[in-house]
Amino acid sequence: MRALIVSDVHSNLEAFRSVIEDAEARENVDSIWSLGDLVGYGPDPAEVVELLMSRPHQAIAGNHDLASIGKLSLEAFNPHAAAANKWTAMQLSQEQKDFIGGQELRLELDEFTVVHGSPRDPIWEYVMSERAAVASFMHFDTYRCLLGHSHIPFLCRPTEDGASFVDFPLDTEITLATDRIIINPGSVGQPRDGDPRASYAVFDSESSTIAHHRVAYDIPATQEKMRRHKLPDALVERLAVGR
Ligand code: ZN
Repeated sequence: MRALIVSDVHSNLEAFRSVIEDAEARENVDSIWSLGDLVGYGPDPAEVVELLMSRPHQAIAGNHDLASIGKLSLEAFNPHAAAANKWTAMQLSQEQKDFIGGQELRLELDEFTVVHGSPRDPIWEYVMSERAAVASFMHFDTYRCLLGHSHIPFLCRPTEDGASFVDFPLDTEITLATDRIIINPGSVGQPRDGDPRASYAVFDSESSTIAHHRVAYDIPATQEKMRRHKLPDALVERLAVGR
């Protein structure tokens, strides 16, 4: 079984399509695992939800997903994110909202615990510090954890007295044995690590390997739609710089 792992697609249809095409050009994909924040920020929430629904998938909800269906208060978001979530809510059909509303906050798939933020707080906590990573390792029982939310790809392993983050190298198969690891595949629709290309991972259960890939997509097309829908300029501009 090969799973295409996507996180933080954020209503970016061009990026999501490019990721699926790129992954399938490498090898067949059996399922898409979405780590949350399918919607919010971008111009195509309904189309992105439809695309995921049309494929075999496993999906959990993120903070933006919950806000877009009224399950989280917009007051918890910065003004740009809140404005985009308000707009997103108006674009989704009832069926699409029900789909998002039916998603769990945590799943266990093939030795992975899957959450959006962290295993301690799946909705809000960012795993970006050693402290958060150490706490995270205490809050899941599987060998591995997949998470998103920060939009920064990384691998994190426990050490004798803490945890250590390393870059998730590109186009390299990482063998997963029984050692514990937290993996962030980066963001499909709004990368924030300085590389504007869409970021994703592929897990192969037979070889027990995971690989990180980046793919360029039509950023101007996404930006043009965002401007047309009067989404905040700051959100439009950041796509081109990946910050
Ligand atoms: Zn996000």
